[in-house]
Amino acid sequence: MRRLRFPRGGIDAPNRKRQTRRASLWNAAIPRTSIVPLVQHAGEPAVACVAQGDRVREGMIVGRASGECSANVHAPIPGIVREIRRIDLPGGTICSAVVVDMDGEFDLLGKRATPQEWHSFDRETILGLIAEHGVVDMDGSRLPTPLGCAMPKHRPCETLILNGCESEPYLSGDHRTMVEHASSVLTGLEIVARLVRPAKVVIAVESYKQDAVSALHAAVRSSRLGYQVVRLRVRYPQGDERQLVRTITGREIPSGGRASDVGCMTLGVTTARAVHEAVVYGMPLIERVVTVAGGAMAAAANVKARIGTPIGDVIEECGGFNGTPMKVVVGGPMTGHTVIDLDTPITKGTRGVLALTAAEVRRAPTTACIQCGRCVTACPVDLNPTRLYKLITHGDLPQAVCEGLLDCTECGACGYICPSRIPLVRRMRRARIRLDGGSGE
Ligand code: SF4
Ligand code: SF4
Repeated sequence: MRRLRFPRGGIDAPNRKRQTRRASLWNAAIPRTSIVPLVQHAGEPAVACVAQGDRVREGMIVGRASGECSANVHAPIPGIVREIRRIDLPGGTICSAVVVDMDGEFDLLGKRATPQEWHSFDRETILGLIAEHGVVDMDGSRLPTPLGCAMPKHRPCETLILNGCESEPYLSGDHRTMVEHASSVLTGLEIVARLVRPAKVVIAVESYKQDAVSALHAAVRSSRLGYQVVRLRVRYPQGDERQLVRTITGREIPSGGRASDVGCMTLGVTTARAVHEAVVYGMPLIERVVTVAGGAMAAAANVKARIGTPIGDVIEECGGFNGTPMKVVVGGPMTGHTVIDLDTPITKGTRGVLALTAAEVRRAPTTACIQCGRCVTACPVDLNPTRLYKLITHGDLPQAVCEGLLDCTECGACGYICPSRIPLVRRMRRARIRLDGGSGE
């Protein structure tokens, strides 16, 4: 086992996982109404293949992928399609969603299909199963997993990295998944290794996750996979793809590039498990692990929730708020989005639902930049956030792009560390939306 130091950039953010990282996963209640967005992936919206009044079975496709970066979307519950309506998703995406009222029998709940002997499957069959069941990168890019497994012909995969670093505060769903579903995670990793044929497989975890490492070691007896565990220092944003690839291999993903450009592939823990479920059990991606936490929550937990469950349902199931939260965030506190609508549905990419107090939000008035340079030191991709902020403020977007605006991963480290509480990330996020043709307001 090797121990590596974090090379540069990043911040020491408070961990705040104590409430949830030792608590077992449990199943959230099945929602009576499920709101299933047709955009839960990186590319074009899925195209609805059901209409108002249709009866849908649990796990049936309700939205078909409509392009290379698009993915199938499935009904998380059996029922009747009440309507297909426009909804706002956290982060500003507006898309159609299939609203299903529960009715009829469950085909998948509590039943386990006979496991398939996937080792006998050829590459196309495996990729087809992953695509058919709607598996996407649930922890980052939201690219369909078959696309994520496509390595450039001239650059075969040298290192496949299982990303067990969940460096955002509060979030511990991946940690619990590794502890409780180690065998499933390893099989998913093995399936992806079969697709990309890496020279080396690395499992990267933060140093405190000894229980996860033990669970993975125990599970490996039933796996043919050879891998190396690398334990990393706790540092945010260690789980970011660029950061992880740099830490493990010393290679820099080029500006605008992907890990595959430097012979690497990273695979999230939740995604690995979804690959296993899809290929071995034929399970569509209709649920995910969500961390529900924050000082304004009555109780914190990691729950397995059906996609489409309104966040208000899981908050209620965890005892509701213990006061008025200063804000409710979907995702992590650094990269997540504030929401005001508790009917906002859980999607394939929802890692957390956080109800934060005023003390946790650390809201304070913005003051002038004191040129302390902390944001520059914190930036894991070597940008100069204060300079970008000024360029954007003065309307010089072309120069901001020249100086790396599009390389910003919106990790939030610069905004967190800034003593003047300058909304650096928000300004950069809006500028990027403007560049994509949105209003950025
Ligand atoms: S949000 Fe962007 S600019 Fe700020 S630290 Fe992260 S990558 Fe750098
Ligand atoms: S951290 Fe804040 S105050 Fe310091 S240089 Fe950056 S923007 Fe200015």
